[in-house]
Amino acid sequence: MIDATQLAANWTTVRRRVDEACRAVGRDPAEVSVLPVSKTFGPDAVRVAVALGLRRFGENKVQEIRDKAAALADDSIEWVVIGHLQTNKARDVARLASEVQSLDRLELAEALHHRLQIEGRTLDVLVQVKTAREETKYGLPGAELAAFLERLRAFPTLHVRGLMTLATLSEDAGEVRSCFRQLRELRNRCAAAGHDLPRLSMGMSADFPLAIAEGATEVRIGTAIFGSRS
Ligand SMILES: *Cc1c(COP(=O)(O)O)cnc(C)c1O
Repeated sequence: MIDATQLAANWTTVRRRVDEACRAVGRDPAEVSVLPVSKTFGPDAVRVAVALGLRRFGENKVQEIRDKAAALADDSIEWVVIGHLQTNKARDVARLASEVQSLDRLELAEALHHRLQIEGRTLDVLVQVKTAREETKYGLPGAELAAFLERLRAFPTLHVRGLMTLATLSEDAGEVRSCFRQLRELRNRCAAAGHDLPRLSMGMSADFPLAIAEGATEVRIGTAIFGSRS
């Protein structure tokens, strides 16, 4: 069961902490949006969040988007894919998602483009870059980003808006922060080469103030809004 009062309080607290993190580093809070991550929570939780005025939701499994989209039947909701995506899911993504933040390989770009053409749709995308040292984290190696962005120009259905990353899971704030810094520096280098990448999606419940300090324009928050995932 989802506690609507608790969720409302969590949302207020998260937005206030994001605003504080912005002011602490001299940034305008209006520059940083929060993407609520509703993965593992059911349609009821999303419904409560919608009543609070939230419209975009991050999910890491396409099947969950399908289930929740069907249960909620609310066209005002925008589903954002933030998890590793298999090419055989491209069809559902092309139909149901408003955005993919985990674009990390050419094969996936090709599959999405193909399906988007069939659907007559376009998709905002962020390129996921691997900045963490763990082997398990997905993402394109930073050294391949510039060439990848060039190749994405061949897919007009994919509107590249920026970059996304997951930091190393670590107690060491310096190490976490260096992942976020890498993403910003990569973005700046690509911008100098003519790629417009205004958005940086980085930071989660445990590390978003560090991401904001390094230039995040969007933080992806699950636990701090919806509670812990059992
Ligand atoms: C689950 C998830 C989040 C949110 O994590 P929390 O720690 O619950 O805030 C953010 N980004 C991605 C890619 C995720 O899979």
